[in-house]
Amino acid sequence: MEYLILALIAAGIWYYFKAKKPEHHDGSPKIELPIKITVSSSPDSSFSPDKVDSGAITETIDGFILNPKSPCPLTITDLTRAEAVALKGYLDEEVNWGRKIREIAYILAQSNGKCKEVDEYVEKYRPQYLASIERLKAESPEWNVAPEKDKEDLLSEFRQEALNVLPVKPSNPEVLDALFEDAPSDVTADDKLIEMFDQDTELYRFYVSQLWSAGQVRNVPADDYYRKRYEALVQKGLARRGQDIALEEILSGLRLKDINQAIQGLIEKPFGRKAKAIEFALTVPDIKDRLGKHVAFREMFQIRKPEGVDVQEIQRCYKHANAVATILRDTYVSGIRTLKTLNEAKGADFDYWEICAEGCCAHCAPFHGKKYKRKPSKIPPFHIGCGCEVEGGYD
Ligand SMILES: [Zn+2]
Repeated sequence: MEYLILALIAAGIWYYFKAKKPEHHDGSPKIELPIKITVSSSPDSSFSPDKVDSGAITETIDGFILNPKSPCPLTITDLTRAEAVALKGYLDEEVNWGRKIREIAYILAQSNGKCKEVDEYVEKYRPQYLASIERLKAESPEWNVAPEKDKEDLLSEFRQEALNVLPVKPSNPEVLDALFEDAPSDVTADDKLIEMFDQDTELYRFYVSQLWSAGQVRNVPADDYYRKRYEALVQKGLARRGQDIALEEILSGLRLKDINQAIQGLIEKPFGRKAKAIEFALTVPDIKDRLGKHVAFREMFQIRKPEGVDVQEIQRCYKHANAVATILRDTYVSGIRTLKTLNEAKGADFDYWEICAEGCCAHCAPFHGKKYKRKPSKIPPFHIGCGCEVEGGYD
């Protein structure tokens, strides 16, 4: 990697001296090193010669604009510059099919970062969405008389319909559920937990990703890829191990076959149902010794919920951060695609420009297949999460 960076810097210096320095109208030389590419920001990203520059991160009173050259710039607030740089690095990797959504979501969640354009979208369209649901309820002859479970079913239909009729929506509309319905009321819910991990972001992310299964007993053998992480969580008091796990919970984490084996000789024939087997096993005084002959307690781990932390709220935070991350990614990548077309157009002399809006939203649909003699004044992404494309072609 160091060699690559050195090579890039060398290339940058070479370019700089070779290229004539263009003068600004104010007479000051315009210094634009091609080395401005986000090398320092994303050490992992592989350099590709036709990498498209979406513009250097720009600080404004609203926050950091990640991609000022894009037709749909994204403004991030509540982040440090270093976090914004890392975020842009991950987005650039997404352009090259790197899978970095989790990393992007993590930066947003742990910094409580927000995207101004996403917030504006929610502010504008959430009221429309909620109004549609209320209208559908009022129009429904079933709603008022439906029993509780049917109401839940009706409501999910209404939500779907309310999303369908939104004029502008991301090409991945499922993210709207987290933004409209399940928004965290307290984005700082995870702050206390993050503190407990003291910079160990890998372990923190692992823990959060496992929280859904808190309480379940897992068998994690010594050669398991995640074994060390489970052990580290035990150290932090966020997981129990082996004999520290309640006997009943150990039993429920075992296979029926293993329990039957441990109580062999005490029963006439093996139990056919696990619940019955557990019930019986709990009455056997030396059950731990018996189990110990068949299973390794040391391999058993149980994730615990953190004390004094609202886990549901944390999960909402992550769901929300994931939704914002997906929108950022889609908008950023769409912008890069357009910038690439614009770059290609420079020497290409296209006969026409065409918009492809397939699979986007009602707002974009009328543009689909439209051909323009000149570069259209409005080019995608037309809105956040827009999946439209513009292409040049020849008759
Ligand atoms: Zn679109």
